Amino acid sequence: MNDDQKYILAIDQGTTSTRAIVFDHAGQIVASGQREHEQIFPKAGWVEHDAAEIWRNTRSVVGDALVGAEINRHQLAAVGITNQRETAVVWDRTTGEPVYNAIVWQDTRTQKICDELAGDEGAEKYKERVGLPLATYFSGPKVKWILDNVEGAREKAEKGDLLFGNTDSWLVWNMTGGKDGGVHVTDVTNASRTMLMNIDTLDWNEDIAGDMGIPLSMLPEIRSSSEVYGTGRKQGLLIDTPIAGILGDQQAATFGQACFEVGQAKNTYGTGNFMLINTGEELVRSENGLLTTVAYKIGDNKPIYALEGSIAVTGSLVQWVRDNLGLISDAPEIEDLAKKVDDNGGCYIVPAFSGLFAPYWKSDARGAIVGLTRYINKNHIARAALESTAFQSRDVLDAMNADSGVELSELKVDGGMVKNETLMQFQADILGVPVVRPQVIETTALGAAYAAGIAVGFWDGEQDVIDNWAEDKRWEPTMDEATRERYLRLWKKAVERTYDWVDEDVNELYG
Ligand code: ADP
Repeated sequence: MNDDQKYILAIDQGTTSTRAIVFDHAGQIVASGQREHEQIFPKAGWVEHDAAEIWRNTRSVVGDALVGAEINRHQLAAVGITNQRETAVVWDRTTGEPVYNAIVWQDTRTQKICDELAGDEGAEKYKERVGLPLATYFSGPKVKWILDNVEGAREKAEKGDLLFGNTDSWLVWNMTGGKDGGVHVTDVTNASRTMLMNIDTLDWNEDIAGDMGIPLSMLPEIRSSSEVYGTGRKQGLLIDTPIAGILGDQQAATFGQACFEVGQAKNTYGTGNFMLINTGEELVRSENGLLTTVAYKIGDNKPIYALEGSIAVTGSLVQWVRDNLGLISDAPEIEDLAKKVDDNGGCYIVPAFSGLFAPYWKSDARGAIVGLTRYINKNHIARAALESTAFQSRDVLDAMNADSGVELSELKVDGGMVKNETLMQFQADILGVPVVRPQVIETTALGAAYAAGIAVGFWDGEQDVIDNWAEDKRWEPTMDEATRERYLRLWKKAVERTYDWVDEDVNELYG
């Protein structure tokens, strides 16, 4: 390879694994490395990661990617980072050691803390200020839990010895020198998921931090998503390389999908689904169960906002069909079953395994399979499982149209499930708009690469992202309006069947 050729390295610190991907100027993947980390489940509802393991894995995968690409660090113009959002790491600035495992976004141990914080004002208490309802999903209550429950943590925090960050901050601090001068920063998109940042001014909210007992000295400096935060430490492979982009994973995918115009949206189909619609410089406060979040901020430019619909269970329902029902041996096989039938036979699955997220937000709902008859077989179940992803996405899209007043003209998709053609066709049918899949479906890492590359002039700006984006496949809706409406009515009826399931008996018998 030509030694003068320059590349961008993206580090994708995800929920199940950490990846490093080298991209070239055309936005194509040159090489990558990937390592999974342990999922730690100490109790029902608790999910933790070992932050030290994540940092070790990051160093390994960076090495693997550079080796795979046969390049040296001088050929890296910059490094960008994207990460699992909301997951909270608290560490000691003098020893560099985490004081507790990272508490993962899916963890629900902070329900009581959230209820107490909400008090009489309810879950919407901070929504006007931070754009989010009080929920276990976000970082702030997780930090409070660590300070309340780890011995000595609160005293240390009050003395200024502890630092908090999502995994972006944890990695950047370590990559830039850790206890020997590491920079403690985050970007606006990650900060917008903590419940601690004013969504309009992009500063920490002292009152909310005060309510949660979180000293401001713990919080990282909030920076844009695309600027040089620091350079690689001298002991590491990335010595002197600029670290120049940070975006939370879903915002990174929005960026990588080139959703730069108001009304452009992407939907990522992974463990869960996350749909974001660009609302431009306007901050739209949802009245339909969506989150207001920062999409990105390039250097000194104004921030660009988004509305987000988060769906908890989509791809993980396919895993459930595989692991808990044993109907299939791997995820793609679900399509083989689903294709054997023309429709779901009247059977609907609502996977409210941990309640319903957007747009319903019902924590006492639980999953249901309805419409069962003697006729239903495993092919119908497989089809209903896939259809539930499409129906849930339609619900979120309706909420987006209602909140933003913009009717979506097409939906860009990415994530592991978009290889499923049967699902993509049904998605287009049930939305009534085309569904479009790009050639590079690693849009999360790609978005972080673009943010970093733009900061150092490797790419000129958003237009380069648009020029590099290429369509792979498009599914046009073929279902007539009347049929679509009938399916949607039945789906809504099925959703209602899941409400109010959890009560004292459920908790006491099965809790
Ligand atoms: P994440 O980034 O959340 O870990 P991915 O984007 O890698 O997830 O997507 C993996 C998810 O997609 C898994 O939950 C898996 O069950 C599902 N999946 C993968 N391939 C298919 C397929 N062909 N059909 C349906 N679901 C699939």
